[in-house]
Amino acid sequence: MKLLEGKKVAEFIYSKLLLELSLLSVVPRMVVVLVGKDPASQTYVRSKTKKCMDLGIRGETMELPDSTSEAELLGKIRELNEDKTVHGILVQLPLPSHINKTRIVREIHSLKDVDGLTPENTGRLWQGDAQLVPCTPAGIIEMLKFYGIPIEGARAVVVGRSEIVGKPIANLLLGHQATVTICHSKTHHLAEETKRADILIAAMGKAKFIGPEMVRDGATVIDVGIHRINDKLCGDVDFEKVAPKVGAISPVPGGVGPMTIAMLMKNLVTAAKLQQEK
Ligand code: NDP
Repeated sequence: MKLLEGKKVAEFIYSKLLLELSLLSVVPRMVVVLVGKDPASQTYVRSKTKKCMDLGIRGETMELPDSTSEAELLGKIRELNEDKTVHGILVQLPLPSHINKTRIVREIHSLKDVDGLTPENTGRLWQGDAQLVPCTPAGIIEMLKFYGIPIEGARAVVVGRSEIVGKPIANLLLGHQATVTICHSKTHHLAEETKRADILIAAMGKAKFIGPEMVRDGATVIDVGIHRINDKLCGDVDFEKVAPKVGAISPVPGGVGPMTIAMLMKNLVTAAKLQQEK
């Protein structure tokens, strides 16, 4: 069984990024907008801005109170859009329930959209002309390539259809010539679908849901889920039981998570380049 170590792949990405950064005539600057005090979001934001610092990139957090209105947040995004010293804007999700996430994401300038979630970037991905791609799906593809897992012609099954993970990873796999099935909470006989997968992407947000009876012998399993149970992290896959029967599997922690941040940094460098070319 091959362990797909995201940390190792991320280091490889960073070494390439440092070279790209040295050739840029600007130091990229990213602003992460954090509304409210959700502890998990605070942790994610800290790790994103810390990684910027490690790479010599400017990463800042704009902390706004939970009481921020949608109109106020839209105003902040517009200011960041117009600020030529800002190359990347990331609105940390989830947002408080009184704010419409779709409206906020739509407001972000597509060239500064380092999360790759605006309609323009989503559309470009579907048209095979991607510009800024959602970080977790992009990271999964990098990980599969790094470990030499064949995608072309593989039967890929994605469990989950969110805008941020399920749909874009399905699209990227399709673009890499896989035959893709997307499953969701209304899928009948889920195990029958997952058992057919050469590449199984678990992105459903249910701790240890994918057991050995749902996985084909020798398959590649990518675990996107992140859950904290009794202070220990685990994924959507029951790792201990599934690992012995697969060909390759990504662990939690240390699998997809580090790739997400690496691809965010890559998107920021791409965004800075795109804005310079404009
Ligand atoms: P969402 O909750 O937005 O989406 C979950 C998806 O899984 C939905 O499409 C849902 O179906 C489907 N689903 C839920 N239950 C079942 C079920 N029993 N059977 C089949 N499908 C099901 O989650 P996200 O995509 O945002 O995140 C998924 C997981 O990945 C979470 O644990 C999250 O924390 C983690 N994550 C990790 C990242 C990383 O960097 N490692 C980055 C982003 C997310 P339906 O559409 O029908 O409701």
